[in-house]
Amino acid sequence: MNTPLTSRTSASRWRNLGIIAHVDAGKTTLTERLLWKTGAIHRTGEVHDGAATTDFDPIERRRGITIGAAAVQARWTPHDGAEHRLTVIDTPGHIDFAIEVERSLRVLDGAVAVFSGVDGVQPQSETVWRQARRHGVPLIAFVNKMDRIGASLDSTLAQMREKLDAVAWALGETVGSESELSGWIDYVARESVSWDEAGNASRRAWSDEETARFEPARQRLVEAVADHDDALAEAFLDGRSIDAALLKAALRRATLAGAGTPVLAGSAFKNKGVEPLLDAIVDYLPSPLDRPAVRAQSERGETELAPDADGPLAGLVFKIVQQEHGAQTFVRLYSGTLRVGDTVWASRREKALRVGRLQVVQADRGQDVEVAYAGEIVAVVGWKDAISGETLSDAGERLALDSIQAQPAVLSWR
Ligand code: GDP
Repeated sequence: MNTPLTSRTSASRWRNLGIIAHVDAGKTTLTERLLWKTGAIHRTGEVHDGAATTDFDPIERRRGITIGAAAVQARWTPHDGAEHRLTVIDTPGHIDFAIEVERSLRVLDGAVAVFSGVDGVQPQSETVWRQARRHGVPLIAFVNKMDRIGASLDSTLAQMREKLDAVAWALGETVGSESELSGWIDYVARESVSWDEAGNASRRAWSDEETARFEPARQRLVEAVADHDDALAEAFLDGRSIDAALLKAALRRATLAGAGTPVLAGSAFKNKGVEPLLDAIVDYLPSPLDRPAVRAQSERGETELAPDADGPLAGLVFKIVQQEHGAQTFVRLYSGTLRVGDTVWASRREKALRVGRLQVVQADRGQDVEVAYAGEIVAVVGWKDAISGETLSDAGERLALDSIQAQPAVLSWR
């Protein structure tokens, strides 16, 4: 039995992720489908103008675009793995909110870049992609709208390579096109996923015929990833058989190192491709433990903070949402443990404040919690004047996390 996902020892099974896209690529639709598929929301999955779950703030709803980041929790058990907790941080797609984009990139650990399979790589996706790279955020990509006439995974991959200098690894290909979009060929697992009308997926191993047809593409994927992963290269050169587990582990290492981007495809609107994408979020995006240490300043100088629940408290306020029952101050905890009843130092207001109530958000409902650990995203309820960008720390430490900046140059993206 796994420990509960709320336990501090479960951090390897947490994923804090954002979804980034050019306006109209389908970010809102995809976010809704992900939350619906995971059971975090119970609607039919339809996106009505401005009413998607991540747009629950009334001002955002009025504008019909997402102007800031809130974080919604969901749970997902991949078809071949343990249950994970996903926290989807809503990343503004609109370029007018560049500072909010930067702030949300700072607090997430990985991101899904959504492209329209019809329109390919559009200017805004280029901008946000580059921002994400600058922050060293590992990325996976979803090529959406594959149900539309003219959609092409190959041409989107070519544009990713040309316009974004991306090392793009297609993890499979869709079956059929337009209204016939019926499945996904999974190169990694050597399996075929079939989608029924409602988009529910079932898996089976490749037939002999499929093996003959798709094994060359799988081989190309293995070779492309082996260029960026020594263990896979060694297995490949030794002539060992490359099974799903070996290839997945190599893809994960290479993606976390920023060497390239796994790419999936489907149609958010038709609810097709959502399950393979959820599996890929778990398989290839980082947990908080996979991220580099962050730097903070104190009166005693600079310190490095690892994602350790026993370390000094350090959390970044990244979004404030006004609710009827009081403000929710969203905090990303990088280090330490935050409990109801704690008194913390707020770096910009320069005062000590009591934490009266903590919540996590599941769909549009708050769920009270007593404690949050390094790597978690939590909302303090009831503070009136928190400031986005300020640091919460132990009153004795008075830390200030470095303002938004690129991560150390551990990542080479070419
Ligand atoms: P956002 O601006 O990126 O959040 O995009 P939306 O999710 O609002 O989608 C923009 C438009 O594209 C809407 O009219 C959606 O219904 C439509 N759309 C989104 N995903 C798909 C898809 O997979 N296939 C098709 N045909 N339309 C889609």
